[in-house]
Amino acid sequence: MSDRHDEGETADDGADAVGSPDGGDRHIETRAIHAGQEPDPETGALMTPIHANSTYKQDGPGEHRGYEYSRTGNPTRTDLEANLASLESGSHARCFSSGMGAINTVLNLLSAGDHVVAGDDVYGGTHRILTQVYDEYDVDTTFVDTTDHDAVRAAMRDETELVWIETPTNPLMNVNDIGALADIAHEGDALCAVDNTFATPYLQRPLEHGADIVSQSLTKYLGGHSDTIGGALIVDDEELDERLGFYQNSVGATPGPFDSFLVLRGTKTLPVRMDRHCENAMSLAEWLEDHDDVSRVYYPGLESHPDHELAAEQMDDFGGMLSFELDGTLEEASTVVSETEVFTLAESLGGVESLIEQPAAMTHAAIPREERLAAGLTDGLIRVSVGIEHVDDMKADLQQAFDAARQ
Ligand SMILES: *Cc1c(COP(=O)(O)O)cnc(C)c1O
Repeated sequence: MSDRHDEGETADDGADAVGSPDGGDRHIETRAIHAGQEPDPETGALMTPIHANSTYKQDGPGEHRGYEYSRTGNPTRTDLEANLASLESGSHARCFSSGMGAINTVLNLLSAGDHVVAGDDVYGGTHRILTQVYDEYDVDTTFVDTTDHDAVRAAMRDETELVWIETPTNPLMNVNDIGALADIAHEGDALCAVDNTFATPYLQRPLEHGADIVSQSLTKYLGGHSDTIGGALIVDDEELDERLGFYQNSVGATPGPFDSFLVLRGTKTLPVRMDRHCENAMSLAEWLEDHDDVSRVYYPGLESHPDHELAAEQMDDFGGMLSFELDGTLEEASTVVSETEVFTLAESLGGVESLIEQPAAMTHAAIPREERLAAGLTDGLIRVSVGIEHVDDMKADLQQAFDAARQ
C-alpha cells in the first residue's frame, strides 16, 4: 500500500516517489484491489478520494507534506501509480494524460543524433510520433520485423538508444519474444521498452522478462470501461524513474484526479474482466476458425497461430483481441462491420463492450493498398475487441452480419 499521507521521501524536484509497492508476494487479483490503496486515515473512507486540488498548504517555506502542486504530484494519481507499479512487477510508475503522453515521455530520454529500432507493426500513433515528430528532432527510427531477431540485430547502430516493441501486435497478433529482444537491446547498450497495452499486466509482465520500461495506454483494458484516456510508464529502476519523472513534470502531460480515479476503479476488476475477455475470445476464435465464411483467424491462443508456443510461454492467457479474414471483398467486410449490433463499429479496444473494425478501411487505410496487402492486411480483414457480453450473442450477431454481406 502507498503511504500517501505520510510519505516524507519526496524528491527535491517534487517528483514524488511511489516507493516499492508492498504486498509483492500477494497474488495479482489481491494487489489489483489493494496495492497503493488504504482507507483514508482521517475519515476511514475506503476509496481513494478524488483530490480535486491544484496546490497544497506548506507548513513553512519548502515544508510540504509530500505534495506542492498537482502537476508534480497529486494523491489520487499517486495511488494509481503505486497500484500500476505493483501490477507490472515494477518499483515505480508514472501516469500521463494519454498513452501517447506516456510514449512521448520515453522519447524525451533521447537526444538529437540518437537512433531507435521499432517494430514495423507498432501502434499507428507510435509510428507517427517517431516519423513525424522525433524525426524532425534528428532522432532516426528503423522499423523492422521484430519477430526476426537477425533483422533486429542488423538494424542496431552505435547510436541506437532504444528498442521499442509491442506484443501481441495490431492487427495480426504477432507475438514478440520480450526476453530475446531485451537481450539484443542490452548488448547494444540500448533500453528496451515494451508497449503492454494489448496484453495488460494480468497476462504479461515485460519487466520480468528483462524489459526496462513498460508503456500502457490506460484508455484500454486498465481503465476498461471506454470512459477515459490515460497512459502510464512502469520501471523497476529508481534512477530511470527519476529521469522519467523529470520529463513528466517538465512536459506536464499528467492526468487529472478524476481520470486517475476512474482508472483506479478499473484496475480493481482487471483480473475478472480479463478472464472473461480471454474466455470469450478463445471461444469466438474457435467458432470463426470452423466457419465457412472465414478464411483465417489470427489469435495467439489457437494452435494454428505461428507464435502460439511463444505466447503460451510468455503470457498467462491469450487476451481479448483477435482478427479474422472474411472470405470476401472489401465491400462485404464493410457490410459485416456495419451490420453488427452487439459489436459496435468503432476504433479503440479493451472496454467491456465488444468493438469491431475493418483495418483496410479504417485504422490502416492510410497505407497504400499494395503495401498493405504485402503486410498481410487484406481487404477482408476484420479486427474485434472481444468484450464481456455473452459469447453466444456475439456469434449470433456475427452470423447475421455474415448473412447480410452475402445478400
Ligand atoms: C491506444 C494505444 C496507444 C495510445 O494510447 P492513447 O491512450 O490513445 O494515447 C498506444 N499503444 C497501443 C498499443 C494502443 O492500443
